[in-house]
Amino acid sequence: MSRTIFMNDHLVPEEDARVSVFDHGLLYGDGVFEGLRSYSGRVFRLNAHLDRLWASARAICLEIPMSKDRMAQAVLDTLAANNLEDGYIRLVVTRGTGTLGLDPNKCSNPQVIVIADTISLYPKEFYEQGLRIVTAATQRIQTAALSPRIKSLNYLNNIMAKLEGLQAGCVEALMLNHKGEVAECTGDNVFVVRGERLLTPPPDAGILEGITRAAVMELADKEGLDCRETSLTRHDLYTAEECFLTGTAAEVIPVVEIDGRTVGEGTPGPITQKLKDCFHALVRQDG
Ligand code: PMP
Repeated sequence: MSRTIFMNDHLVPEEDARVSVFDHGLLYGDGVFEGLRSYSGRVFRLNAHLDRLWASARAICLEIPMSKDRMAQAVLDTLAANNLEDGYIRLVVTRGTGTLGLDPNKCSNPQVIVIADTISLYPKEFYEQGLRIVTAATQRIQTAALSPRIKSLNYLNNIMAKLEGLQAGCVEALMLNHKGEVAECTGDNVFVVRGERLLTPPPDAGILEGITRAAVMELADKEGLDCRETSLTRHDLYTAEECFLTGTAAEVIPVVEIDGRTVGEGTPGPITQKLKDCFHALVRQDG
């Protein structure tokens, strides 16, 4: 079935949604993106995603050629055009068409693309039994080289680590920063439970500040759990009572094995379970 895509202010059939081979989004990964989800027709934390998209664009000196309100409307229009209530939405803004040189100032017409699709979820067993993950040898790119806080179209750092995970039979892989501290997984943030405390790496560990991560931190607070951003090593993960990942697509997913070590009891723990339930309730009520 052909989808309807929002592209540069128009809804067009998928077949007509095309970018130039000279677009620097394609040539250099020069552009930014977002991944969002809608639940029963409501987009979860739309404004937070738009703010992050605009922040990513600002960081790379890319001016998004529309207002946040217009983009918000485009998201809703694209969902409606595809008859999607529970869906995954991808926002893409490219640098636009330029020359074969790097110079972004020679580019024009940034392409604004909104894709809405059904969400492809991890199998139910992963949530019930928990994930096995491995640490990738590929380090998370250093903040001084390219900030992981920018959600740019250049995701090769994460893809290299994802390949390592897949080669080890895992759907996610843990990435460390250049200091050997835990940063995040290839497309998800990491949390551990130690005692009554929830711990997660801070932004300067080299992470994307996940919107699900922020929501889970708020939920933890409401549940009376002490949640702290602190630098973590693999040792902290190996010896944690519980570990879980957060992300728009994955939501909250337990991790039960890291690098062949069983985490906690080897089954999803009670705090992970609680936060997973709270998150499911939140996405149904939060606009
Ligand atoms: N880290 C990375 C590298 C990601 O790509 C994502 C997914 N966007 C996340 C973390 C989780 O962020 P969010 O909860 O906003 O989806």
